[in-house]
Amino acid sequence: MFDLQAQDPLTNARTGILRTAHGAVATPFFMPVATKATAKCISPQELVENGAEAIILNAYLLHAMPGSERISQLGGIHQFMAFPNTIIADSGGFQMIRESLFLGISDKGVQFRNPFTKQKEMVSPEDIMRIDMRLGVDGAMCLDHMPFVLDPYEDIFTATLRTHKWAQRCKLEHDRLKKEGNVLNDQQLLFGIAQGGTHQALREKSAKFINSLGFDGHAFGGLCIGERREEMYSAVVTQLPHFDAGKPRYLMGVGSPEDILECISYGVDCFDSVYPTQTARRGTMFTLDGQIDITKSKYQEDTSPIDESCQCATCKAFTRAYLHHVAKVEKYTAYRYLSVHNTHFIQQLMKEIRKGIDGGYFSEFKGEFLERYAKGKREKR
Ligand SMILES: [Zn+2]
Repeated sequence: MFDLQAQDPLTNARTGILRTAHGAVATPFFMPVATKATAKCISPQELVENGAEAIILNAYLLHAMPGSERISQLGGIHQFMAFPNTIIADSGGFQMIRESLFLGISDKGVQFRNPFTKQKEMVSPEDIMRIDMRLGVDGAMCLDHMPFVLDPYEDIFTATLRTHKWAQRCKLEHDRLKKEGNVLNDQQLLFGIAQGGTHQALREKSAKFINSLGFDGHAFGGLCIGERREEMYSAVVTQLPHFDAGKPRYLMGVGSPEDILECISYGVDCFDSVYPTQTARRGTMFTLDGQIDITKSKYQEDTSPIDESCQCATCKAFTRAYLHHVAKVEKYTAYRYLSVHNTHFIQQLMKEIRKGIDGGYFSEFKGEFLERYAKGKREKR
């Protein structure tokens, strides 16, 4: 299921191949976010063209609309959204930070307000596993209790213990469903999620416990939600050695080129984030010389592409001057062109990183990339 290929001589960065029922994913990899089975302003085909071998969506929200039974009847999630590659499903744990959805939590499960019907519904760890099986995703995430990073220690402790109990229940139910057979994707993987806030001892304890349950991969949960960058890095460094080195390690919700490069050097294999598409919709474009804001008037006569070296459909076709104009007069169309560039940029960065690790020059690549990226300072809006 997961084969390691190369190990960087100077850092813990590594490459590998993750095999799922929908193809091989070269690691480390980055997943664009398609929460409700659609990314914002960019099609599944464009994500494939940009090099995305995997995406992430949300099991609970798809159960809420259009329903996991319906997606199952329509042939499963890959057929439904016409995405042929690997699909991972987050559970719904992350939705607990959305006040409009989250109503309460107990050992039984999470109570949500269905965002479409407005009805209250209880979702248990077992429910999420059944939803994932009906969707036919390639990788399922356990339902976890994700606390706020600034919550008092006692609350984070309680959430971490509940996450552990739910991880056991998810594993039992997932094994049972697979054994029962007659499922859309009998190769579906299950990832455990460790919590612990910014408390190192709790992070360590959580990683050890989650690792003991026999999951196919392990995730760092509850990060990139308001803690300082150093706190996020130190949570990863604390937990990582306690996750089985032969299984993929997934840092949820990250992120920016800087954070991706840093965490790959620690040994992280997998990332997801709305960052590339969210920044694109604000007009912020990634370039090798740092970020630029295409809506600024200094681009209205700029005949260069967003990034000279980029091979995306937007850079092949359009000048900065034209994109600046489209952003002014037809913002939804601009969102699409700009999202194509940013998602392509991140996938291209991941490719270069993998080449660097395989070729034994990852540290050099990281240093040079970050220096150039920081030099062309971020433009303030
Ligand atoms: Zn481009």
